Amino acid sequence: CFCQLQGKIDECSCNIHTVDSFNNVKLFPRLRSLLIKDYFRFFKVNLKRPCPFWSDDSRCAMRYCHVEYCEENAIPAGIKGHKTKHNKYTSNTQENCTEHHNLGYLNKTLSEKAQHDMEKWAAYDDAQDNFCVEDLQGEGAEYVDLLLNPERFTGYSGESAHRIWRSIYLENCFRPKETFSFNPYIQTAKLNNMCLEERAFYRAISGLHASINIHLCSNYLLSSKNGLSFKDPNGEWGPNLEEFIKRFSPEFTNGEGPNWLRNLYFVYLIELRALAKAAPYLEREDYYTGNESEDYDTRMAMKDLLSLIKKFPDHFDETTMFRGTKEAQKLKYEFKQHFRNITRIMDCVGCDKCRLWGKLQTQGLGTALKILFGGQFDYDPSGNLMNKMEMQLQRNEIVSLLNAVGRLSTSIYKLDDFRQMLR
Ligand code: FAD
Repeated sequence: CFCQLQGKIDECSCNIHTVDSFNNVKLFPRLRSLLIKDYFRFFKVNLKRPCPFWSDDSRCAMRYCHVEYCEENAIPAGIKGHKTKHNKYTSNTQENCTEHHNLGYLNKTLSEKAQHDMEKWAAYDDAQDNFCVEDLQGEGAEYVDLLLNPERFTGYSGESAHRIWRSIYLENCFRPKETFSFNPYIQTAKLNNMCLEERAFYRAISGLHASINIHLCSNYLLSSKNGLSFKDPNGEWGPNLEEFIKRFSPEFTNGEGPNWLRNLYFVYLIELRALAKAAPYLEREDYYTGNESEDYDTRMAMKDLLSLIKKFPDHFDETTMFRGTKEAQKLKYEFKQHFRNITRIMDCVGCDKCRLWGKLQTQGLGTALKILFGGQFDYDPSGNLMNKMEMQLQRNEIVSLLNAVGRLSTSIYKLDDFRQMLR
């Protein structure tokens, strides 16, 4: 079977089989119950920003692309306006009020000019670490309940969808050297002409693409009757094996399908490693929504999840990337710029539902890259933070990272369902 993958995951020492048994038995069930908690289900996003790269080719009006926004009173009070316990600028807890008061005192002792410079540099420092461009303060950002808007088949396809993927692979991925091809999509065999970091970039994007396409195959509209609303109470949704074969079998994909599936495992390992690395920070987070018992349950569920992830035997080793030299630092800068562009391209996706999940998953991956390569989360051998700068993750970064891992974990789980069906 083409999807019965074996051996080591590319660029890693970990086996496919190790991930399958860890994910399908241990991680997936835990994530499934964690992600329905209030803290993780409400995601703030701006779906109204115009496409910065080409004039909008009119939004898709398909009913399955519709996104349902939250009523103001459905959003837990603790989430509105709350960032994180560690973020001292906005919060409604007593502790942060005191801190804010102290900051106010400090501010008074600084000249206005020095204060302005400090703010500018704080924003600059934070922006330097970020792999995503997402402004949640601007007009149009709203809360979406992810449980009411599941990622699934929407019918979004054709030139609009192809333009997005083409522009990601052609203009915003690194390209193999010494080869010129009219095909915008990269062939796996040509990856040998690229360095580790460039290959890793491509594999991460391709893995994300594979995950999105597995979701639409496993949550496909099997029957559609006229006059269904987007909530389609009568619609039948479920796995579509033919669609899966068409998208991933070697026969229909020029031999590439199984490689794309392998890339799914690669991006999974990247995000898993980011969670392990940020675990000491995430364990201290308060997951505040204002509902005491729910918040306690969320903290316990996070502790349980993180201790499981820390025990994963074969994590991705990010220290092999961007080592030392000036060249490596230049490459890291380009890596970040390419990735930021991809987060901007999400504003060009012509289907709101796809745009929502595209933004969430690129922001989640961007957060993972920030944790792995931003320098804020580096520990010395005894487990102390090496960087004295205060590390920071905004609530939306935590929500997108955990949901992004949830999406990849579900894809690996669903892949196993397709394997069983093919048998
Ligand atoms: P596409 O998936 O559009 O791929 C284009 C080309 O890319 C292929 O011909 C192939 O050469 C290459 N390719 C395909 N897969 C990979 C891979 N994994 N790695 C490397 N190269 C690859 N549709 C939905 O129904 N629901 C969604 O939620 C959804 N979300 C989307 C989110 C985003 C950000 C985008 C851009 C699209 C989304 N789509 C979604 C559309 C979906 O991804 C496909 O574009 C669409 O179904 C058309 O598929 P296709 O077979 O023409 O190939």
